[in-house]
Amino acid sequence: MKTTISSIINSTGNARYRLLDILHKLQSEYKFISEDIIDELSTDMDISPSQIKQVISFYHYLYDKNMGEYTIHINRSVVALISGYAEVVKTLEEECNCKLESLSESAKFGLWNTSCIGMSDQEPAILINGLPFTDLTPEKTKNIISDLKEGVELKQLFNKYETDKYKLLIGQSSVNKTKTYIRGPLLDNDYSNFSAVELLNTRNSPSDILGIISDSGLQGRGGAGFPAGRKWKAAAKVKSEKKYVICNADEGEPGTFKDRVLLTEKPEKIFEGMLICAYAIGAHKGILYLRKEYEYMKPYLENVLQQMRDKGILGRDNSYNFEMRIQIGAGAYVCGEASALLESMEGKRGEPREKYMQPTEFGYLGKPTIVNNVETFAIVPSIIKNGAEWYKAYGTKFSAGTKVLSIAGDCAKPGIYELPWGITVDTILKLSYAKNSKAVIVGGMSGKLIPPEEFDRKICYSDLATGGAFMILNNNRNLLKDVVLPALDFFIDESCGSCSTCRNVPGYLREIARYMEHKKLSEKDLLRIEEWSKLLSISRCGLGKSVSSLLIGFIRKFTDDYEIEDSIEDNFLSVN
Ligand code: SF4
Repeated sequence: MKTTISSIINSTGNARYRLLDILHKLQSEYKFISEDIIDELSTDMDISPSQIKQVISFYHYLYDKNMGEYTIHINRSVVALISGYAEVVKTLEEECNCKLESLSESAKFGLWNTSCIGMSDQEPAILINGLPFTDLTPEKTKNIISDLKEGVELKQLFNKYETDKYKLLIGQSSVNKTKTYIRGPLLDNDYSNFSAVELLNTRNSPSDILGIISDSGLQGRGGAGFPAGRKWKAAAKVKSEKKYVICNADEGEPGTFKDRVLLTEKPEKIFEGMLICAYAIGAHKGILYLRKEYEYMKPYLENVLQQMRDKGILGRDNSYNFEMRIQIGAGAYVCGEASALLESMEGKRGEPREKYMQPTEFGYLGKPTIVNNVETFAIVPSIIKNGAEWYKAYGTKFSAGTKVLSIAGDCAKPGIYELPWGITVDTILKLSYAKNSKAVIVGGMSGKLIPPEEFDRKICYSDLATGGAFMILNNNRNLLKDVVLPALDFFIDESCGSCSTCRNVPGYLREIARYMEHKKLSEKDLLRIEEWSKLLSISRCGLGKSVSSLLIGFIRKFTDDYEIEDSIEDNFLSVN
């Protein structure tokens, strides 16, 4: 063990910011990180054992115990729940001979729930030792497990069950059967890769780039919508020898899968966008933070980076002096928040920083840093090539451009749609051939639950802003059971625990939601929920602030599904 740890550290160095990489390597060697490994590592890295344990305990995909020779993560998103999750779990439990959240007797299999693996268009889905198996039926599940018992090698199994549908090269295998129904300026196939980079130094100076991005009205596509130009300008004006450009590919919002598609279809545009940003702000290092659930894409993406080096676009010796690497995350929804992502990249627990610390001044390793998401970077080359006015011609006055939506749930055409901002919910339902829709969740678990009376609302920053998730539910769905309760489970699971509000209120709200399964709330109970929700607004990050959004949306807007008693009694509190 000593020798293995030393050789890993020899390859990565022992800086704290490499801790996640080191832990991933150790885990792939030993299956989990034991106390002995932690002690040894603590000496070699000069970090206390308890600090290492704190990091391991924070992430879903770092293990301090045996998770099974075949670690099976079962997606438990809303779309999975309405698409046959329960039958797949039942089959897995029978075939693996163990219950969910436990190991089989021989430890050959471990069955674990996970929030979302980015496969909402192909549910039910699981990851087996990191490889995705999708569109599961009880029969397909049974066959997969039976093959594993007979000793079929995992990659072979993946090829047997998934390859015919997956066409993009990923190491020896491939991924992506997602359908892209509508393409816009980002996804169109006319763009000639790296043609915007050719304009740097010739047509466009760094300040030209900053001007074009600002004038284009491009806003961060992660959900918050902060103007990209303003962010880039802030980092550009800070004087520092080192600056960083980070692409947030930690797409964890349940229901979203568009980054997976962009990463497989348009990786060149994403990396090109990062390079353009680096040129504009004066950075020489870029990092793609790829969520652990998408680790199977890493060889494919590394290959694209190598091609860029071969072409002389990337690397220390070329005219841009810009190099990139890929950092694998470890599974934590909150790391989608920029400052939490930076903490994670520094080898720490992914807890959001205080808001006064702006990444553009004090970001990765204390240096000026731009963090934008996959979709934001991917549109940059087209904007630079075609100009700000061209881009602004799409969308609305205050929401320029297009939005790539992940459409899933009860519709005939789940998949990717690149649509101009300002499009209505109703139009999207028609495009995706959704029938008898009872509700739409825009923006995932932290988003909004929209009833049919509001289907004329628009997808844009001034009405329904979204990072990309668009989940459709039809008249057969039980919103309390299929949406509200899983959402609260999700927030309880994913809270980093730093804020007392976010640590405590979701559990209380879940008790109320469970009570609602059998009994009626009174108006007074509802007012109490709204009071508690106001408390949530003082939470440090968006996760805590949005915990009650779907619950309140359900109670207030779906009165046919759940009737509030017109009484001032404390119905819930009187029995709790
Ligand atoms: S709101 Fe929740 S997830 Fe965000 S910092 Fe506070 S405890 Fe952590």
